[in-house]
Amino acid sequence: MTKHITHWIGGKPWDGEAERHGDVYNPATGQVSGQVDFAAPAEVDLAVKAAQDAFQTWRRVSLAKRASVLFAFRELVRSHASQIAQLITEEHGKVASDAAGEVARGLEVVDFACGIPHLLKGAFSENVSSGVDAYSIRQPVGVVAGITPFNFPAMVPMWMFPIALACGNTFILKPSEKDPSASLLLAELLAEAGLPAGAFNVVHGGKAAVDALLGHPGIRAVSFVGSTPIARYVSESATAAGKRVQALGGAKNHMLVLPDADLDLAADAAVSAGFGSAGERCMAISVVVAVDPAGDELVKRITERVGRLRVGPGDDADSEMGPLVTQAHRDKVASYLDTGVAQGAVLAIDGRGHPVSGDAGGFWLGPSLLDHVTPAMSCYADEIFGPVLSVVRAASYADALAVINGSPYGNGTAIFTSDGGAARRFTHEVEVGMVGVNVPIPVPMAFYSFGGWKASLFGDTHVHGTEGVHFYTRGKAVTSRWLDPSHGGVNLGFPVTQ
Ligand code: NAD
Repeated sequence: MTKHITHWIGGKPWDGEAERHGDVYNPATGQVSGQVDFAAPAEVDLAVKAAQDAFQTWRRVSLAKRASVLFAFRELVRSHASQIAQLITEEHGKVASDAAGEVARGLEVVDFACGIPHLLKGAFSENVSSGVDAYSIRQPVGVVAGITPFNFPAMVPMWMFPIALACGNTFILKPSEKDPSASLLLAELLAEAGLPAGAFNVVHGGKAAVDALLGHPGIRAVSFVGSTPIARYVSESATAAGKRVQALGGAKNHMLVLPDADLDLAADAAVSAGFGSAGERCMAISVVVAVDPAGDELVKRITERVGRLRVGPGDDADSEMGPLVTQAHRDKVASYLDTGVAQGAVLAIDGRGHPVSGDAGGFWLGPSLLDHVTPAMSCYADEIFGPVLSVVRAASYADALAVINGSPYGNGTAIFTSDGGAARRFTHEVEVGMVGVNVPIPVPMAFYSFGGWKASLFGDTHVHGTEGVHFYTRGKAVTSRWLDPSHGGVNLGFPVTQ
């Protein structure tokens, strides 16, 4: 029995017949678990129409009422957290604790959005000119779309829609076609929380659905999270169509380890951040840059820890690392082990031989480590997005920094050191959007904004935090005079303060 997954339009499941479908897998068994409908332009039109209609009323709903819907949604997500996490594990493959952590981090953005009355406060200046007051307000942009990746099927949508809705917009989510079910449970919970029908819609599909959204004149802004080539494409297409865009792309996150670092702490961090979620995190550490003479000892300590990692199905409480999302992705990730060796790297840990406790049909690949990697190798240059950690050896802090700043990506990075001065210098000099000091995955809290630099972000605004509020609103400055007879009379000169 496979399940049927369809769109959510106008406050209910779509009841039409889709022309195209996609298979959804259970990555721990390799079996097809469901079929998801793919949206054609006609279904995207329906969703935009529903969102446009809902916008006319939702934007007028009071801040207090919008916040109360968010508060109710928050409680519903909390009470359904294990159900959401289970859907994530079933379709993505990540282990249960990791899926629960994803829901918890998404909830932080809902918490933040509950404070929307405060976040939308404008400024007021009395008597900017004689008898004239000035104030600023922020208003919703209209119908906005969110296009999200497979690796966080609940958290990344929750980076977007709670703030967009709280600001008074209506929303169309196009989640990854690989793990679409969590988004539908979130849609049901929003409806149960009192969000009007049509204010939140979900359309499924791949490129055709995305293209229909990007070209649709009814959509005013697009938030995208995914790989760099698609982020660039989305940014260029949506911008050309006159939309506001923020498009977060891929990553290659470096962890710089200085010789004075606590090497046990650094090894724990490299293993946790390199292999958590099977390396399928945009903030995963994929490259350790070890400054001489830390490299040999660090690789030894990482190897000891990797040998003890338990790889198995996400619904087994003993598993620490699950399968990869698809067979094709698993094979592509594994191919970097051979090309790395062919290009001169040392395969210090070959994950293809790591014991796995699950079904032989699952998309398994154990944790691997390539040592003595150089920036010229494809295992360094490409975003592998799997459980393959590279170690680059550097002769000095300056050489290590040059490697990191030479990367086209700039999402996250971390330094491990016992020297506060070195850490401070690194945070000042590194060209990366999110920096950790003895913290390997420095994902900002919801009240700061998340986003990278360089090829990890196209557009100006990061997601959530105050930048998220700015992305989903337009500023308006109002200059107001309540007539005072003494200020009458025609004046063709440019307005100046009096
Ligand atoms: P992806 O780019 O393949 O897909 C992202 C979205 O774009 C999906 O909804 C997908 O259906 C759609 N899409 C795919 N191909 C398309 C095409 N040709 N035209 C239009 N739309 C298309 O990414 P993914 O494999 O789902 O996710 C992994 C990637 O996401 C990694 O590169 C990872 O670094 C990145 N990511 C980045 C962040 C961040 O915050 N910067 C966060 C999470 C994931």
